[in-house]
Amino acid sequence: MTINFKNKKALIRVDFNVPLDAQFNVTDNTRILAALPTIKKVLEDGGSAILMSHLGRPKDGPTDKYSLKHLLPELNRVLGMQVKFVDDCISEESFRISSSIKDGEVLLLENLRFYKEEEKGDVEFAEKLAKHGDIYVNDAFGTAHRAHASTAIIAQFFPQNKTFGYCIEGELKSINKVLNDGKKPFTAIMGGAKVSDKIVILQQLIDKADNIIIGGGMAFTFVKAMGGNIGKSLVEDDRLQTALDILADAKKKKVNIYIPVDATIADNFSNEANIKMVDVKNIPEGWMGLDIGHETEKIFNEVVSNSNTILWNGPMGVFEMSNFESGTKSVAEAICVATKKGAFSLIGGGDSVAAINKYNLGNQVSYVSTGGGALLEYIEAGTLPGIDAMLNNS
Ligand code: AMP
Repeated sequence: MTINFKNKKALIRVDFNVPLDAQFNVTDNTRILAALPTIKKVLEDGGSAILMSHLGRPKDGPTDKYSLKHLLPELNRVLGMQVKFVDDCISEESFRISSSIKDGEVLLLENLRFYKEEEKGDVEFAEKLAKHGDIYVNDAFGTAHRAHASTAIIAQFFPQNKTFGYCIEGELKSINKVLNDGKKPFTAIMGGAKVSDKIVILQQLIDKADNIIIGGGMAFTFVKAMGGNIGKSLVEDDRLQTALDILADAKKKKVNIYIPVDATIADNFSNEANIKMVDVKNIPEGWMGLDIGHETEKIFNEVVSNSNTILWNGPMGVFEMSNFESGTKSVAEAICVATKKGAFSLIGGGDSVAAINKYNLGNQVSYVSTGGGALLEYIEAGTLPGIDAMLNNS
């Protein structure tokens, strides 16, 4: 960020879409922490910050449950100051407060999605929001894949005065490092439930990666496509040909694809189920694969620990249940080992971030993305509406 904010009001789109418990306490403040460097830069330059965000998916206008006021105690705590709050993001009162805000002060606007216009990308709504600040700062990577009023449309009202914040800058830098600038070998580890969610990204990665590791529920579609018996494991029968096409394309482009060779299977989807470890191609009828097996762990670990660039998206099994977390945990640990040896590792996509945090390994990898869907869409499309809007009309 090269702009100096002295005597300026920075209107910062942050991603404060954080989880809250029943008493409205913030249970994971990662996203608030991710916005701090930008807010602090504005204040240290001698400017003021007007923060805007969404929280959850309110359907019918203002709802207490989705009020951003619940975040104030945590925001005050991490910033070490009293943040002002206004209960409507475009009310007269909100403009009165934002126009009289002093340098060094921070104002939080109420949930943008209390107005339907936000998600519709309404131009007039964006224009009203724009009145709050002199400089627009987009620092909400988690919503950069949406062409909403505050994330993309608003940029046109700041033709010369807009910038990405540190959070988005960091995200873009790390994705580009992985996809375009990384040291070889580059290994992409893909997991999670469905092949259908990850087809485009797999196709993109075949053009970039040296190794692609496939685990999680999506692996069983590949195993079945190759003629294996997968019992009642998760499968997408309409994607069997897609799986074969991906394998053929990888072979053509000399990309190594690693599919599990064994699996931890269970007789039902429960941590209390009977379990055993079998060859992945011979899962008995009535059983389902819920994790990769130990042989597979060894193979995957070997590949990961010899990589210099690593992208991880999606767990290797149902890591939420202790009996099926071994594969995910061992991949997470192998990534940390590789990182220690000098590899650059990017963890992105909701559940792999949840996994790395579950094992408290977030500080042993190079970068943990704040935007699951946004990261995946960026890899798929090469850009995002919220990024384009910033680059296009300056
Ligand atoms: P995704 O959002 O596509 O990354 O999927 C993440 C979810 O996939 C997690 O909740 C995992 O529990 C689930 N998952 C991973 N492996 C399996 C599996 N073998 N069978 C069923 N679900 C799985």
